[in-house]
Amino acid sequence: MPLPLLAIAALGGTLSMTARDGAPGIQPSVDAQAMLAALPQLGAMARVQAQTLRLVPSASLTFVQLLEVFDWANAQIAAGAAGVIVTQGTDTLEESAFLLDLLWPHPQPLVFTAAMRGAAQVSADGPANLLAAATVALAPGSAGRGVLVVMNDSVHAARHVRKTHTLALDAFTSPGHGPLGSLVEGQVRYRHGATPRQPLPRPTRSDHQVALLEATLAADTLLLEQLPALGYAGLVVAGSGAGHVSAEWAEVLTGIAAAMPVIIASRTGQGSTARQTYGYVGSEIDLQRRGALMAGELCPRKCRLLMWVLAGSGGDVRGRLGDWLAAI
Ligand code: ASP
Repeated sequence: MPLPLLAIAALGGTLSMTARDGAPGIQPSVDAQAMLAALPQLGAMARVQAQTLRLVPSASLTFVQLLEVFDWANAQIAAGAAGVIVTQGTDTLEESAFLLDLLWPHPQPLVFTAAMRGAAQVSADGPANLLAAATVALAPGSAGRGVLVVMNDSVHAARHVRKTHTLALDAFTSPGHGPLGSLVEGQVRYRHGATPRQPLPRPTRSDHQVALLEATLAADTLLLEQLPALGYAGLVVAGSGAGHVSAEWAEVLTGIAAAMPVIIASRTGQGSTARQTYGYVGSEIDLQRRGALMAGELCPRKCRLLMWVLAGSGGDVRGRLGDWLAAI
């Protein structure tokens, strides 16, 4: 029986970084072919089709580039790939993975992986993570799970995963949920079954932006007041606690919510926003009356991506946002 086809796209990040030309620090430099050369074990698992799509630090990835990755991954599935892997930097990995998870229409897995240690560092984790990602991408149990993130022998759902440590090897966790599964002796073991998914249409435009502002103690309203004139397609507020802002912010948000969709998420990093607990000015009950939507468990950064995708295909963005958020 022929080996399955596995497609790997390299985008850069620490996994690809080494010291270069005597410059300080490490920078993206190891391309997909060099990455594969360091991992001969892959050849026994699959026929690998690898491509370097970018070599950038992940903070510099753009929406246009990520849609190109989505199109590339679709083409790999159409060409018969059993699974697709994307390697990128860890800093924005939770965002890229979620963005593509919103759109991924195939049962075949799309797996993101990365590294916390540079390619030339002692005990670099990149090769082990890539091998684990390949195991997950080829495992029958990974089908129908959308986009997965494999780091440090754990498999996370794109919707829940977050980088919760700056430099530790186990920087990726799924607060409040835990990983979907883990790798044990070279095999993936899932603890949870796949949940039904409803992919969204690929955005037809990509030149729009959704603003994300964090509500902080005694914050002024200067930036907030300027927002409607700046051309944003919507606003996400990382609110305090269960999704709250000051009375001053609440007043300004009334006008903004009349002009564009507004989601109030929580800046705490875990748990759901409230919907019907607090009633003071700036609370979730007050903010919903002013036209804002509550995020539930979706973190502020992922709310921004959800709104970006929905705003990119037009129609009743607020209505579709409300439906999506109510369903999770
Ligand atoms: N520190 C980052 C990484 O882990 C750099 C980046 O996100 O590209 O890959």
